[in-house]
Amino acid sequence: MYRDDELLQLSGLQHLLYCPRQCALAYMEMQWADNSFTAKGIIMHDKVHAEKIERRKNVVIERDMYIKSFSLGLVGKADVVEFHKSENLMTPFPVEYKSGKAKKDNTDKVQLCAQALCLEEMMKIKIPNGAIFYGKTKNRLNVDFDESLRDETIALAKDFHNLIESGITPKAQISEKCNNCSLKELCLPELAAGKKSVKKYLQEIASERDS
Ligand code: SF4
Repeated sequence: MYRDDELLQLSGLQHLLYCPRQCALAYMEMQWADNSFTAKGIIMHDKVHAEKIERRKNVVIERDMYIKSFSLGLVGKADVVEFHKSENLMTPFPVEYKSGKAKKDNTDKVQLCAQALCLEEMMKIKIPNGAIFYGKTKNRLNVDFDESLRDETIALAKDFHNLIESGITPKAQISEKCNNCSLKELCLPELAAGKKSVKKYLQEIASERDS
């Protein structure tokens, strides 16, 4: 079990899965920059969080809900938690809002599963599934919190703590992901991966400035 002062931001999990260096730059070195992808996400989240609690027939919707887990060592906020009434129980159903479209990897699912694990620990209840709403395609993807996704999420939370405790920012791994990375300008992947010398990099900057 982690202590209160050891809890890390739940949102870091998706960054760690995307790129460990991006995660270290954002959550260890505290550097962040928005690009068009993250900016769209912020606008969408602001809309989602406009009304805090809404009551509908058999469903109570809570937005921007504070969540944490001492076993995962994570703290954060869930975009939306729907509480579905069945018999005398209100079962939580987390819904995460993303501005883009469904991804091939598990980054969004892991973030949602971590939210569910936090809610399970807080409410001592089992949460079988949740959903991710994608703004670009306007579809809602249902996600089952099966054992494999739970194991992946728990392992990633441990890796996140190990990364932060190590105090070492991993080297850049150049890939297609760098093209969509909001930290590319801060990361300087070609320099960090040793693919380009500092001298060449400075020469390129100077020639761009003179052109
Ligand atoms: S630019 Fe590439 S290597 Fe650097 S943080 Fe982003 S994804 Fe990772």
